[in-house]
Amino acid sequence: MKVIFLDMDGVLNNAYHRNNRYIEKDKFEQLQRIVKETGAKVVLSTSWREFPDWSNFLHDFFCVAGIDVVGSTPVRDGWRRQDEIREWLKENDCPIGAFVVLDDIDMSSDFPENMVCTCEAGRIGLDTAFADRAISILNGRSREEEVVSLKTEIERMRSLSEQLSHIVHFDVANEIGHPDDLMVMEQWLKAMGFEFK
Ligand SMILES: [Mg+2]
Repeated sequence: MKVIFLDMDGVLNNAYHRNNRYIEKDKFEQLQRIVKETGAKVVLSTSWREFPDWSNFLHDFFCVAGIDVVGSTPVRDGWRRQDEIREWLKENDCPIGAFVVLDDIDMSSDFPENMVCTCEAGRIGLDTAFADRAISILNGRSREEEVVSLKTEIERMRSLSEQLSHIVHFDVANEIGHPDDLMVMEQWLKAMGFEFK
């Protein structure tokens, strides 16, 4: 699962470091585009999550807009936002390459590969360029993940193949007496890519 850790103020509005609690349409549409192009789900890291009415509103509003909110980072007294995000990653066993942090607080020293700071050179909020960056992080990592997962699958198949070879060897040696059966087995094994001795 790909995850967007989402701040609100300074991301979906231009209220840099202020709690104004409003959403701007053009910025929200960029979030929808990220979700559409990556299939990512949202985890709320915004301070809005600390207020049940606002958290519920976001869940409902995003759901109607086709965006799944799958949770919130834990709220811990005295913790920095990056610590709360890291805690969520740990608790949910999220691979390092499968998330992006959208925030107007720059946490790139904590998440150098995953940070999109939406406050840069006078630009505040999720614009097209910031969204493109988030998409390339999420989709780029996904390809790497696919390679890792493919390698794991190949190893699993290789191990299975070795076990199967052993079992077939046993069966051939002990169970197959008739020459026709042996020939069928030989053809079958070759078709499956096994060496037949
Ligand atoms: Mg903010």
